Amino acid sequence: MESTNYEKGENVMAEFWMSEILKGCVEKGMSLGEYILASECENTGQTREQALDRMSQMLDVMEQSARGGLENPVFSNSGLTGGCAHQYHGYIQKGQSILGPVLADAVQMALSCSEVNAAMGKIVACPTAGSCGIVPAAVLAVGKYRGNSREEMVQALFTASGVGMVIGEHATLAGADGGCQAECGAAAAMAAAAAVRLLGGDDEQAVHGAAMALKNLLGLVCDPVCGLVEIPCIKRNAVSVSVALTAADMACAGVRSYIPFDEVVTAMYAIGKALPQQLRETGQGGLAATKTGMEMYQRIYGQDYGAM
Ligand code: SF4
Repeated sequence: MESTNYEKGENVMAEFWMSEILKGCVEKGMSLGEYILASECENTGQTREQALDRMSQMLDVMEQSARGGLENPVFSNSGLTGGCAHQYHGYIQKGQSILGPVLADAVQMALSCSEVNAAMGKIVACPTAGSCGIVPAAVLAVGKYRGNSREEMVQALFTASGVGMVIGEHATLAGADGGCQAECGAAAAMAAAAAVRLLGGDDEQAVHGAAMALKNLLGLVCDPVCGLVEIPCIKRNAVSVSVALTAADMACAGVRSYIPFDEVVTAMYAIGKALPQQLRETGQGGLAATKTGMEMYQRIYGQDYGAM
């Protein structure tokens, strides 16, 4: 679902591509996160302290939603989904996960945020409600692993914001417009950039991480079963944070995206526009149109899927 907290024309930097923003950062001697923070203050009239405090409050909500489904299962209002974060949490606790502590922690938190969203709980749409688990999971899991301070995590969220802003302005953040690549793909790009910064990488590496994450989710369709942000959205958040952390890790090792971030964003938009309408949040194609998806539709709405 499309975020409403970013409106075109609202941001004085909005017309810039990432390559131009990075040049601006170098000229001003600022990090990408600081640059975005300064621009946020300029656009909204907030002081630096107010903007940092507001982002810190968002981090609070991210933490609550990331943990909300672990100790006790959370179920969606529709009854279609729930309990996966709790189930996976128990599996990790038993030492059965093969993923390693950081990725396993990220996966459980991505599931939790998404289940809290499906249960109509409080989340941060970053950049959208459907993709709300990816950025928090990456920031919190890496931040815990690296022992980052809260200030560093808040700064990393501003770095992620810069990535999301460029995608939102030059492409789209809406599944209805560009498929799930625009939601989970964008969130993974934002998460990768934040993770790189928390891992000690520089802004250039952060943007390469963002490019590699988005590249590897290109073409991902939006096909929610019953038109609800549950199946496949919840598990897509878990897998997308895995993509984000893999991209971040490669970027920190010095691996670069051969295709620059701005061009990946352009490609994502073109691919989104080429997707048929059935695969852009209409619930009329992909997994929504499978036998099981159609049976779920009948169960939830009491009418044939074909009648929609
Ligand atoms: S499948 Fe569609 S509704 Fe679900 S997270 Fe992806 S873009 Fe959002």
